[in-house]
Amino acid sequence: MINVRHLIKRFDGNAVLDGIDLSIEQGEIIVVIGPSGTGKSTLLRCLNFLEKPDEGHITIGDLSVDAAHARRDEILALRRRTAFVFQNYALFANKTALENIAEGLIVVNRWPKKIAHSRAHEILTSIGLADKADAYPASLSGGQQQRVGIGRAMAAQADVILFDEPTSSLDPEWVEEVLALMKQLATERQTMLVVTHEMSFAQDVADRVIFMEGGRIVEQGPPSQLFQAPEDPRTRDFLRKVL
Ligand code: ATP
Ligand code: MG
Repeated sequence: MINVRHLIKRFDGNAVLDGIDLSIEQGEIIVVIGPSGTGKSTLLRCLNFLEKPDEGHITIGDLSVDAAHARRDEILALRRRTAFVFQNYALFANKTALENIAEGLIVVNRWPKKIAHSRAHEILTSIGLADKADAYPASLSGGQQQRVGIGRAMAAQADVILFDEPTSSLDPEWVEEVLALMKQLATERQTMLVVTHEMSFAQDVADRVIFMEGGRIVEQGPPSQLFQAPEDPRTRDFLRKVL
């Protein structure tokens, strides 16, 4: 369903993504791991043109984009097929939980406000925050804010949700509730590409784990294989440090 071919992104002449090839099936849960500065965030950001890739092709469903020559309408179409969950939640501080979830439906999808709010209510209920509909982000816990961030991504009904370290900013006490919501999405077979240091989540939930280093995919496979029998010395070295 998603196909990435030879994706390259350079910063100051440095290839931070150095020819990424990646295919993702519908309903697949993929976890990306790797050392700091290795291009994990850049990969996610390039997939929806938060960063513009320098070379390569990105295909999502029937939409195929040549990164180097992407037109504005193609970029917008690609963005509508992806949703992003940020490490720092990136909620609108002056909007309620409900409004944060409804906003994209109103602005991007041009839904009438009333229908968007009704849909946002359904989502808040499904993520266990119906009683927080009128709360502003500042009055929510970190875990609740990130659940709203995930609710907003769910509202977009994107083909894939991209998670960039969704629990890294959270106090330890809130991590589990966010992981539980992500597991709920995984059970519903929402296609997900997740950068995380939560190895137990990768172990339990991922269909495939990808190890990146130096802007390349070094090794990938089912978690049982990658964690228990990594083949590349770089993977083994990394796992020794984090497991
Ligand atoms: P971490 O685990 O620390 O989040 P990462 O794997 O997500 O790391 P990236 O954030 O993708 O790594 O960064 C990869 C490299 O690209 C780093 O060397 C970083 O400094 C560089 N980089 C990222 N964004 C920019 C930018 N906007 N301008 C210049 N260099 C950048
Ligand atoms: Mg990162």
